[in-house]
Amino acid sequence: MYRTKTCGELRLSDVGTVVTLAGWVQRSRKMGGMTFVDLRDRYGLTQLVFNEEIDKNLCERANKMGREFCIQVTGTVSERQSKNKNIDTGDIEIITNSLNVLSESLTPPFTIEDNTDGGDDIRMKYRYLDLRRPVVRKNMELRHRMTILIRNFLDSKAFIEVETPILIGSTPEGARDFVVPSRMNPGQFYALPQSPQTLKQLLMVSGFDRYFQIAKCFRDEDLRADRQPEFTQVDCEMSFVDQDDVLNLFEDMARHLFKEIRGVDLPAKLQQMTWHEAMRRFGSDKPDLRFGMEFVELMDILKGTGEFSVFNEAAYVGGICVPGCANYTRKQLDTLTEFVKRSQIGAKGLVWAKVNEDGTVKSSVDKFYSSDVLQNMKEAFKANPGDLILILSGDNANKTRIQLCALRLEMGERLGLRDKNKFECLWIIDFPLFEWSEEEQRLMATHHPFTMPNPDDIPLLDEHPENVRAKAYDFVCNGIEVGGGSLRIHEGQLQEKMFKILGFTPERAMSQFGFLINAFKYGAPPHAGLAFGLDRWVSIMAGLDSIRDCIAFPKNNSGRDVMLDAPSEIDKKQLDELQLKVDLSQEK
Ligand code: ASP
Repeated sequence: MYRTKTCGELRLSDVGTVVTLAGWVQRSRKMGGMTFVDLRDRYGLTQLVFNEEIDKNLCERANKMGREFCIQVTGTVSERQSKNKNIDTGDIEIITNSLNVLSESLTPPFTIEDNTDGGDDIRMKYRYLDLRRPVVRKNMELRHRMTILIRNFLDSKAFIEVETPILIGSTPEGARDFVVPSRMNPGQFYALPQSPQTLKQLLMVSGFDRYFQIAKCFRDEDLRADRQPEFTQVDCEMSFVDQDDVLNLFEDMARHLFKEIRGVDLPAKLQQMTWHEAMRRFGSDKPDLRFGMEFVELMDILKGTGEFSVFNEAAYVGGICVPGCANYTRKQLDTLTEFVKRSQIGAKGLVWAKVNEDGTVKSSVDKFYSSDVLQNMKEAFKANPGDLILILSGDNANKTRIQLCALRLEMGERLGLRDKNKFECLWIIDFPLFEWSEEEQRLMATHHPFTMPNPDDIPLLDEHPENVRAKAYDFVCNGIEVGGGSLRIHEGQLQEKMFKILGFTPERAMSQFGFLINAFKYGAPPHAGLAFGLDRWVSIMAGLDSIRDCIAFPKNNSGRDVMLDAPSEIDKKQLDELQLKVDLSQEK
């Protein structure tokens, strides 16, 4: 046996027993004739003692060990004189009598401790060492627990876990595909699944009734803190259900997870907010409800009631009331103005108003409005003395709302209102079925082309598709879209119509999705589903800022794995076998 105990389990009650431990040298300290070594494994730290007086030779060997040597020791558990309250094994130490160096270590590029790291690049290059740090490992343990809980929960609800292939064809989630050349079919490519969407729908046609999979998905998109080119979904599909059946079941799953993992009780019924309401009140389809500062629309109050042409010409004027910030200095207000004018946000300017202690209003647009108008505005916000009102306007209502949303989140952040230990979950429902793509100059499916239109809106499909609501829903927590899904179209004619509106010719629809269109001709059951982003969910539960920290081997912002040095060029021989030529001469 390599070890009889782990480094996390010995207590006072073990004093006097002889144990064998194995692990890594966290650090060692020489004090007079004694050497103390902290030995680390996955379960904790245990202090080893080497005493020159007892065994000089052993002590000398111990003194030669560097950080991260992998060793095996045997010794007697003994009560520690100066106890360490910070670790579970802090009452005891091991009086070592044998040492076996299993494997030496180079000096690691950073010390393996919770609060030290060598910066992102070094951490990622030596990720296997980074994963030795307990803070990082804990995230992986949490992820493991979540997947076990999810599997057991879904199993208890009769879901069957089915694996679907990775080498498939294009899937319809609207991102760019990752493609893989086929050697056996020269000139042809597989696409990696953006999600198992079509396959899980086929499983419903097969009568599986309830499917789930903890599925790898691949999307070639620009990366952000909460995006990776490959990520994991808890992907689910159900037959013979309506929207409430789906929402209730997955709300129960969320409740179960929050309770088990964080000890948090979600409300008995989660709020459902329509997409329109979310946009109007928060400028976002994933509102962060941990704090207020809801939007107040000011068109009635500020448009046409003064000489300020910017508001008079705007399609939208609205703002937020930031409690207690009327003492913001000129400089702080300038910083906020620069914030909203940044290219990612794109507002033209920021109007502010401060509510003075005597209730009067001082504003950057004072000179254009009577004090009555400014008072009306104050009333609209129900603003108190000491509050700061921030107003944006623009010629496109939803664009301006999105800008105001960025400002609201920024103010929430500044005031410390985005508390990582608070969880506010809700469903967003009634998404628009289509959204206009400026890039493609056409309507695109907001969710995906198989999403069921709201039956009440089907008559609008021909004339006003932009007004059609979808039977689609997102699960949102703390301003993050954690999951999303929809009822699906299971009827051929309606699906054909969808493809037509989306600009597919019948031939293209058939070549891309013919298998599904055909499958639906064989008694397709009504079905619905959703998928949760596992990485995002784990990172919320763990209170992390980036999903990278809950992925064992993540990629960096340029989509590189710096440890494996991937992607990389391939051998000429491989290219020849694939009958491919690389031509980098063309400009991007
Ligand atoms: N396939 C969808 C997605 O990845 C989820 C779903 O509709 O079930 O967003």
